[in-house]
Amino acid sequence: MEAINWMNEVSKRKDAIIRDTQNILRIKSVLDEEHTSPEAPLGKGVKEALQFMLELGEKDGFTAKNVGNLAGHLEFGQGEECLGILCHVDVVPEGDGWSSDPFAADIRDGKIFARGAIDDKGPTIAAFYAMKIVKELGLPLNKRVRMIIGTDEESNWRCVDHYFEHEEMPALGFAPDADFPIIYAEKGIADFDLVQKSGEVQGSNNHKVEVISFQSGRRYNMVPDYAKAVLNTGNTQTEVLQEFNEFIKQHDLKGKAFVDKGEFVLEIEGVSAHGMEPDHGKNAGLFLSLFLSSLNLDQRAENYFQFVSKYFFNDSRGKGLGISYSDDITGSLTINVGKFTYTRESGGQIGLNLRYPVTTNMDETKKQLEQKTAQEGFELQNFSDSKPHHVDENEFLIQTLKKVYEEQTGEAAELLSIGGGTYARSLKSGVAFGPLFPGRPDIAHQKDEYIIIEDLLKAAAIYAQAIYELAK
Ligand SMILES: [Zn+2]
Repeated sequence: MEAINWMNEVSKRKDAIIRDTQNILRIKSVLDEEHTSPEAPLGKGVKEALQFMLELGEKDGFTAKNVGNLAGHLEFGQGEECLGILCHVDVVPEGDGWSSDPFAADIRDGKIFARGAIDDKGPTIAAFYAMKIVKELGLPLNKRVRMIIGTDEESNWRCVDHYFEHEEMPALGFAPDADFPIIYAEKGIADFDLVQKSGEVQGSNNHKVEVISFQSGRRYNMVPDYAKAVLNTGNTQTEVLQEFNEFIKQHDLKGKAFVDKGEFVLEIEGVSAHGMEPDHGKNAGLFLSLFLSSLNLDQRAENYFQFVSKYFFNDSRGKGLGISYSDDITGSLTINVGKFTYTRESGGQIGLNLRYPVTTNMDETKKQLEQKTAQEGFELQNFSDSKPHHVDENEFLIQTLKKVYEEQTGEAAELLSIGGGTYARSLKSGVAFGPLFPGRPDIAHQKDEYIIIEDLLKAAAIYAQAIYELAK
């Protein structure tokens, strides 16, 4: 058989690819829990985008199936096994500051601008045309090829949860929802709270400062950029103020101290960052905790702020807790303290986001965490865990995708591991494969999100060859 020129096949369909990409981008498929119905459990826009894909496929002779109005699939080919391509058509809210209507899909400078252009509607259309090319060329296949379309990737993954409860798990697959070349390993991700045990708190440790309340951060997976404490400083206000100003200067932070309704308020501004690398930010909650722990506090506050400072300040690797660990595949375990709350009446808690290497013994790690924090008067609660994800680099899936990527781009297909979680982890044997090429800025979830048309077409060619080589 003559070698197929995949890029040529894509070029023949270029206008249709751009048109369908624009059409799906014009659907405002943001989760809308306020306007739901059994036919549209995640809102009208999301359902419309799912329907768009199912109709697109049906028109071209794919078997289309709506699975509970939460997900769906398009399938062609024959065989015992199934190759899965996992996409999603929901998008995060558009946010502010756009240069053009975020749902107009305007083309400027060879780019299509819209919410969802790169994440993940553009790649969904690229993968759809890739399937269509393989189908139209009438190439012999040994596997069925199935595009699975999710509609809740940006929020709670109710789509894939529901889908895989009712439909088969593909033998292998990829998700065009992250970076090229290939993401073959993802850390495990655990969220949990450490809650201060109530116990007896003696009122009289001759303290000078009482912490009335303390708050910082709202999400487990973000480094908080703001923290606020309300204090009763008695007759030590001048002293505290002076020490606070020195602290702020010493750590190069922005901070404010003022009196509000007779209470002394301290605020610190830090630098936000994604929780997968806490060292990229400046945790406002940890800095303010460190400062507070240096004061002569009431007992309950002293226990809380000393615990937080001792185990988490300047230690994002779990050394103090005795759970630090790293491996060659995914690097180091990381801990982000994303939420802090404390009140004089009920004590405090922190919310943590732990990302752990693929070879971590999580049972041991959790046990150690429980023991260590119990000694300090804290209790582990609300533990939720998404297991690490890893496909061996010698597997057919990875070897094949590597070969395809190298042939199509002329670049080495380096295997990537990340601390974040991609959609691929909902597949048993799946990797994230594109669509963002190395060196391109990551504009997903940002204002003026776009996809470069040339990249969209190149991705379609890569996916087409990948589908053929994996399913033939
Ligand atoms: Zn995505």
